[in-house]
Amino acid sequence: MAYKTEALFRDDAYLKTADATIVAVNDRGGFIFDRTIFYATSGGQPGDTGVLERADGSRVAIAATITGETKDEIIHVPAPEHTALTVGEQVRLAIDWERRHLLMRMHAACHLLTVVCPFPITGASVSEDDSRVDFDIPDAGFTKEDVTARLMEMVRADHPIFTRLITDEELAANPGLVKSKNVRPPAGTGKIRLVCIGENASIDSQPCGGTHVKSTGEVGEIYIGKIEKKGRENRRFRIRFGPMPST
Ligand SMILES: [Zn+2]
Repeated sequence: MAYKTEALFRDDAYLKTADATIVAVNDRGGFIFDRTIFYATSGGQPGDTGVLERADGSRVAIAATITGETKDEIIHVPAPEHTALTVGEQVRLAIDWERRHLLMRMHAACHLLTVVCPFPITGASVSEDDSRVDFDIPDAGFTKEDVTARLMEMVRADHPIFTRLITDEELAANPGLVKSKNVRPPAGTGKIRLVCIGENASIDSQPCGGTHVKSTGEVGEIYIGKIEKKGRENRRFRIRFGPMPST
């Protein structure tokens, strides 16, 4: 049986702590709670790390967060050498907020890049200091400098970033919302989560289950570190934090 963890980060990506109850410990020692603020690895975004604090004040480090049998089952993988926890126990969850906030800024930056490069996405990977997005384009015709300038234009404009739910039917009627070439958002669940940028989603909207900052200004200074050729029809863009180094 797969558990369904209430994913608190979906409605509020800014939750740093939350109380939860252990509903299961799986055969590999992973903890499953009734609710969580820990994002589980998926969609190119790595899962959260952090700690859980027990009633007696002792702490257990969480080294990784992954999905289980279904995407709704979220498994918290403890660091080795931890004390046993029991089902029914109440704990306080705390994510490594500094790391998560970097991932939220980077993830939002990846969305901005898909606005500058409106081509099918073949892969993406978000990390704290260097993220990449792969596009199905034969020849970029882009320079790092141009793309960086257009990204920073959107950052400086400080557009809102928000989520909204649509139905399977609404998505079917707007196929252009899906930018990923190979990955389709899950159908049949009734509701699809769109991540929107700009007033009334004027800049962008696309299905995404990840965590993002609430405005483009919060992304902060970013630049394109590299545009790599990966095959005849594939270009890999690398995003980094900070000002573009002078060459
Ligand atoms: Zn996203």
